[in-house]
Amino acid sequence: MGKSIDVLTQETVELLQQMIRNQCVNHGTPESGNEDRNARLLRDELEGIGVDFEVIEPAPGRSSMIARYEGTDPNAPSLCLMGHTDVVPVSPDGWMHDPFGGELITADDGTPEVWGRGAVDMLNLTSSMMVAFREIVRSGKRYPGDLIYFAVADEEAGGALGAKEIVDNHWDAIKCDYVLTENGGITTSTADGTTVMMTTGEKKGAFRHLEISGEPGHGSRPYRSDNALVKAAKIVTRMTEYEIAPKLDDMFRERVRALGLGAEMEDKLLDPDQVDAALASLPRGTASNLHSCCQMSFSPNMVNSGEKANTVPDRADLYVDIRVLPSETQDDADRHLRAIIGEDLLPSVKINRLFDSPDGPSMSSTDTPLWSALTDSVQMAYPTARVVPSMVTGGTDARFFRAKGVPAYGAGLLSNKVSFAEFGSRFHGHNERIDVESLKLTTELWLNVCNRLWA
Ligand SMILES: [Zn+2]
Repeated sequence: MGKSIDVLTQETVELLQQMIRNQCVNHGTPESGNEDRNARLLRDELEGIGVDFEVIEPAPGRSSMIARYEGTDPNAPSLCLMGHTDVVPVSPDGWMHDPFGGELITADDGTPEVWGRGAVDMLNLTSSMMVAFREIVRSGKRYPGDLIYFAVADEEAGGALGAKEIVDNHWDAIKCDYVLTENGGITTSTADGTTVMMTTGEKKGAFRHLEISGEPGHGSRPYRSDNALVKAAKIVTRMTEYEIAPKLDDMFRERVRALGLGAEMEDKLLDPDQVDAALASLPRGTASNLHSCCQMSFSPNMVNSGEKANTVPDRADLYVDIRVLPSETQDDADRHLRAIIGEDLLPSVKINRLFDSPDGPSMSSTDTPLWSALTDSVQMAYPTARVVPSMVTGGTDARFFRAKGVPAYGAGLLSNKVSFAEFGSRFHGHNERIDVESLKLTTELWLNVCNRLWA
């Protein structure tokens, strides 16, 4: 006999609170993260229900856990629920409540919310996936395919000590045919109906380090000096002024429609001649998201130069975060970068590739049984909803699976209390929190997807 959804929601709330309090903060250094704390907590959740699990610890304290509930038919497709257990750092001064308190607080409008770092990225999903997985195992329900629960470390620093390591070197442990992970399920209701966005793809990182050279000289005589920092500044300026023709494709159109901005704004955003002006008129959060969803982006984020305040630097190092669209390549990034640098400065610049996303697709087709199961399951909660594929601008662990040809979707299901703009602002932002209704919808979603996928 299965537990009621209200009981399961309560389990998700409590598990999420504990995961937040474990403070698995990933600073990008090998000794941070301490995901061991959440891995141990999750392992304890499986105690005594008779399911096998494996812990992989590529570096001290950086554990990931894989639990596999075997299906009855070795040929049936398997599904992996993947949630990361780490979170990003906080600036506590910006918070109204303790970022690691995991408190359940009732908002002014009566909505109960769980507060804390990780409440939307993505301990809400990691905890609800565990509750759904455990409920399935505990109830004795058997599906044809394997159901895998994967609590993974180090997502917030690129996955070298988490998904990347495990996909590259422990594929037998994690192998699966489908993946559900962060993030999706933003729900927008307008006069035209309800739209729910699920993530089918993401942009690809093409980070670059530019070594810019000049001639050293005395800082008292800058006239006609060959100053590497000045060249770096020119490149930065050119980068911010560089224009790329936006790709206003079907996915972009769906995204614009899903935001419910009104017909007039939609028309402008989908018109190549008006899109720039339309973006300029929107709030920054929405505008920056839409901007990045229709073009390659360049963000110059770090520069170092010089040794001494009285010496003209002969070297500057500029680091640029470039993200290409799923349809674009690393070579496309370099081609645009060279155009930005310009003929005059190119001889002084050496371009180094810092970090490339894996080759291969960064977009999953919706022509799969899992997508149908996901759509049907969303419609159990929102009967008239249109479920549309969408893209995220950042990177997730899904990319390691997509690169291996495994369809991976960013899922979840939010109440309509969380708008697109609000959701975005909580990601890595202050006052991160999730309403209990969204935790309920998401817990139920995983259970329904399993029922539908293997029906
Ligand atoms: Zn995340």
